[in-house]
Parts: sequence; C-alpha cells; structure tokens
Amino acid sequence: MSAASIRLPLWAQTVASLAGAPAAGPLLLGVDYYPDQTPEALWEEDARMMADFGFTNVRIAEFAWALMEPAEGKFDFAWLRRSVDILHKHNIAVILGTPSAAPPPWLTAKYPDIVEVNEKGERLHPGGRRFTCPTNQAYRRLSLIIASEMARTFTETQGVIGWQIDNEFTLGSSQRCYCNYCQAGFQTWLRSRYGTLDNLNQSWGTVFWSQTYTDFSQIPVPLPSGGDPNPGLALDYDRYQSYANVSFQQEQLDMLRKTCPRHFVTTNNVGLVDTINMRDLYEKLDFTAFDNYPGFFDMLMAQQGRMGSSAFVSSSIALGHDLARSVKGGKPFMIMEEQSGKAGQKTFSPQPEKGQARLWTYQAIAHGAMGVNYFRWDTATFGAEEYWHGILNHDRSKSPAFDEIKQGVRELKALGREVLYSNYVADAALVFDYDCSWALAIQPGHFRLAYLDQIVSWYGAISASRSGIDVIGPEIDLSAYKIVFAPVAYVMSEKQAARIRSFVQGGGMFVTNFRLGVKTETSQIVRTPLPGLLRDVMGVTVEDYIPVYSAKNGMKFSPALAGPDSECVLWTDILQPAGAEVLASYTMGAHAGQPAITMNSFGKGKAVYIGGDLNEASLARVLRTLSGMAGVKPPLEVPAGVEVTVRKAGNKQWIFVLNHGASSQSVNLPAAFVDLLTGEKLTGKIDIGAYGVRVLQA
Ligand SMILES: [Zn+2]
Repeated sequence: MSAASIRLPLWAQTVASLAGAPAAGPLLLGVDYYPDQTPEALWEEDARMMADFGFTNVRIAEFAWALMEPAEGKFDFAWLRRSVDILHKHNIAVILGTPSAAPPPWLTAKYPDIVEVNEKGERLHPGGRRFTCPTNQAYRRLSLIIASEMARTFTETQGVIGWQIDNEFTLGSSQRCYCNYCQAGFQTWLRSRYGTLDNLNQSWGTVFWSQTYTDFSQIPVPLPSGGDPNPGLALDYDRYQSYANVSFQQEQLDMLRKTCPRHFVTTNNVGLVDTINMRDLYEKLDFTAFDNYPGFFDMLMAQQGRMGSSAFVSSSIALGHDLARSVKGGKPFMIMEEQSGKAGQKTFSPQPEKGQARLWTYQAIAHGAMGVNYFRWDTATFGAEEYWHGILNHDRSKSPAFDEIKQGVRELKALGREVLYSNYVADAALVFDYDCSWALAIQPGHFRLAYLDQIVSWYGAISASRSGIDVIGPEIDLSAYKIVFAPVAYVMSEKQAARIRSFVQGGGMFVTNFRLGVKTETSQIVRTPLPGLLRDVMGVTVEDYIPVYSAKNGMKFSPALAGPDSECVLWTDILQPAGAEVLASYTMGAHAGQPAITMNSFGKGKAVYIGGDLNEASLARVLRTLSGMAGVKPPLEVPAGVEVTVRKAGNKQWIFVLNHGASSQSVNLPAAFVDLLTGEKLTGKIDIGAYGVRVLQA
C-alpha cells in the first residue's frame, strides 16, 4: 500500500498541512450545543453567532436518543443532518455524541432490567440519566445499534470530525451496578482472572467465615449480607465494574474505528471520580477529554459540609488537569465541558467572578490541554439542567462571561497550535493508584481516611514547589522524575515495588507515608513486617499503626525540616529505623520521642517515610523541603495563590502564570520575557491582575 493510498483521519490531515509542527492536531475551541432542545428556527442564528464568536466546533446529540430512534429500529437522523449542515455552512465542525447515557422511555419500558441495581440491592428507576447496567446485553446491543446507525449516517458527512462515546461514565447517582447480569459478568471475569476456584479461594482467603466456593456460580456481589464482604471479593468487584464500563465503551469504539476511520474518538468524564480506571478507559481512545466545573465543585464541597475548602477545590481542579494529561502519557488533552456560568441542577454555583472563566480556560491550557469546549451555548428553559447556565442566558442575551470567553478563544487562536500541542514539563510525579483508592474505601482504617483526600492534599502541598507534576499509575517507569510521591500506597504489587526500588537506587527520591505496602494485589495483608516489600528501601520497620481519635499526637521536626510542631490528624505509624535517619519525632503519649518521619539512603537515592498524617501547613512545608533536596527548582518564584506551569516544544518554552486571587499579585522576573497575550516586554517586578493570566516567553 502506498503512502498516498492511506486514508488519514481528517484531524490528522491537518497535521500534514502544518509544516514544522508535526505534533499538532485540530483546533478545538468550541461549545456544547443542543439543537435537539432548540427551535429549528434558531439554528441558523446560533451557527452564525458561534462563528462570529470564533468557535471552531460543537459537540452535539449525546442526549438525543429519543429523537434519533423514536421507536425500536425506527431511526430519524434528518433533523440532525439539517443541524450539521447548517453548522458546517458556518464553518463549525461537529463532534457527535453517542447517546447511551440516557436511553428513552420506550426502551426501558420494553427492557426494564437494563436499569441498574444499587449497592443496597434496590433497582433504580428510569427517568434521570446514567441509570443503566454496564453488563446488560440488551442495553449493550441497543446502545451499539443506535451508535452504529449514527456512524453509518454521518461517516461521510462534511463537517463531522469526531466522536464522544456516551457521556460521563463515572457520574451515576449510584456508582456501581449490583444486578444479576453484573453478578454473572463478575463470575465470568473471575474465571478468566483466577483460572481455578482453588486459586480464587486461596487468593481471597474464603476459608474465613466459611465462604469457600465450590462453583463459580455461587460467588456473590458485595450486597448487604449481615457482615462486611470479603475484602478480596470487594476489591475485585470494583475492578470488575471498571472493566465492565471499559468493555461497554470498547464495543462502540470498535464499531467507530471501522465505520468512521477518518474521525477521532474520545469520551468525557469528571476525572477525579474514581469508579472507573481512567487509564483503561482512555487507553484506546485518541485523547483524553475531561469536564471541568470549578464553581460547581466548590458548591458540592459546601453541600458536603466542607465550606471554605477553596484550597481543596483549587488543588482538585489542577490535579484533574494533570491526571487528564497523564492518563495518556502526557498527550495534550481536551476539556469537553468547561463551566461558563452558574452551574448546577436543584442548587447551583454563583456566576464565576469576572475573569475566572478565562482563567479556568488558561489553567487547563497551562496544564497541557489542547482544546476547550464550553458548556453550553444557550441555557435550557426546561429539563433537569435548566439552571446550568451557558454563554447565552435563558432569554438569549449575552451571559456575564460572554465577552471574556470570546476574548480567551481569540487569544488561544493567536497563541496557536504549537503552544496548544506542546509538552508539559514535570520533575515530580504523584502516584494515583485506583487499587489503593478502592481497597482503602473498603477498609479505610479510620472513618475519615480517604485516598482521594490524601491525594488532593499531597498534590496541593507538592504544587507549592511549582515543580510540574505528572499524575501516574503504579505501572509507570519512574526514571524521568527527580522525586516521586506516593501517599497511602496501601496495595503494593511486586512489580511496582521493584520499579520504586530501582528508581531510588538510581538516585531518585521516593516520598511516601503511613499504610505503605500493607496489602497484596489480592487484598491480603502481607506476612512480613510493614512496610512489606519496601522495608529495605525505606530503611524502617513499622512497629505499630494507630488511627487517631480522642488520644491526640503531634510531631516535632529536626532542623532539616524545621518548622512549628504539627498535630497528627488521622493516623500515626510508629517507626523503628533500620538505618534511616530520623527527621521528626512524635510528641505525645506512649510513643513520644519515637521516630515519626525517616529518610533512608538507598543506592544513590533517598526514601522518605512520613509516619503521621500531617496538618496542611506542615505537609506543605515538608514536601516543599524534600522537593528542594531532590533538586526541583521552580521556573519562577511566585506568591501563594499564583500558579506557574511550563510547556515546551523543541527549544521553545512557555511559562504560564495564573493568579487565582481576587486582588492583583506581583512576581519578580529573573530575566526579560515577552507576554504573548499582550505583546508587552517585561523585566523585573510585574503585576498579575485579579484572576489574571500571563503567558511568558524568554
Ligand atoms: Zn448490572
């Protein structure tokens, strides 16, 4: 086959035309649009206004199953084709969403058992969205049929450039399904994972409570059962549910690759919901697409009694972006839904402050995004999301953020694809391991100990060192990093332990904390003293592990980590050094004076064990100090509340400086820079306005 006869995907063809920027792809600065919810008389005006706005593309149709298949096997895409044609006429490209997140009433009436069963064993009811079982064959078959009909209809349609499969797999009101179909699917999955019942019984330790299985069909799902489930079974069930969603998606992906070889394919998610392993979900997709709602998330935190958790919210948002990029090994990602106004359903967040919508866009770009779609064009006047505000208000007047989003789109086009498709620079990595998250949720040890909370706290503390952070899985080679952080690494495989050992031996710094290496991959507790497989690397033995409730403890630091004493918030591991240097000691109770933080020299590197759960200020200071010891240097010294990241392509480098505060901040530049957004030449002390952004190039 000659090169000329290979049919490149449409979005890859742009690459060929971009001399000198071989890594660049399509420009995706668009908006989420609902022609299905908009009178057809307005479609032309919408498309013209979007084109005037500067948008390059829309995403449409992901909730329009009932219009596209009004009765089983009866399809109507004429309306959608008219919409696509109008958009194309105005040079707006189209990402089509397959509609499986919201099956229509005729479908659930005929196939009621596609509806998922929650963790209490109650079947949900149709009427909302994302109420479906990922295993159910009827749901899979019908989802694939509607997606296939769409794909066949639009594969040659001008203007269609890509696909979003389904919508937000991670966001059901019940996170996992526990129905009979899932039980059967789980049993099949277990058969292929363990091979034999003997192996499964041994791996889970089913002799406990007389749970020995003599046939795969006896294996239950973890529904209420008079006592807690076997931890091995529970962890495997979380893995199975993640797998079931990934394999559900794979059916549509295989079809789209075959039917629409010229189109890109992705899906959208809120990345920090940990029900599905994002690395598996995106592995075979073209790029990651996440949804980003900082204001809405802030409101959710307040609803959960975490008022004033703005540091937690801002760390979570930045972490979400770094995860999006890292999920596909650093490849530029897309924000498929970016908050543009008040956001929510029954209750909603306030309008973003003036400048924030543009700032949030730049924050995504600063962390490695190549495109942003805003949610949504107009604001619905009906339906569960009629308070989820878009770029046009209910009366189609301009929303408060209209002009600044338009400004941002114009600026990003001017920055161009070379910046949008450049690489992100990270000296540090944070391990985010789904197995640890799931296993710790099954047995947290302390009712307030949650893996995601620890990850977010650590991320916030590490980001104070401005190092650039990749959020990596346990299977990643670590040699590219100066320092690797792995909080609550509760489940540790032999392969992961070997990678950590060789990283430290080679000169890296590995920083971890309590609950390290407690469990094997099958969720059994290791039979060696803790921290299990990494005891030699860490140079300590955990003498005891203690959740903190009413009996308080604190920590006093050595000069190397100098600072005020910390309280121990949730946990203390009591450490017995075996060669490691002591960097902090406990201050109270029976263990006062005993080591609380240790640092071990191993090979050419260092391994640090933080035995207690530090308060926020101490954690930030300790992790920043360790980053400095590992040789991490910030690209710029900036005050708190100002974020700085670096992207680069070849020998070109762009420094993003983002002020998340409501008042102006100043930064001292070590050299002369140009602000690419304003064209100003800058030296010395410069101001970053409230919610302001600068993109600096030397
Ligand atoms: Zn199910």
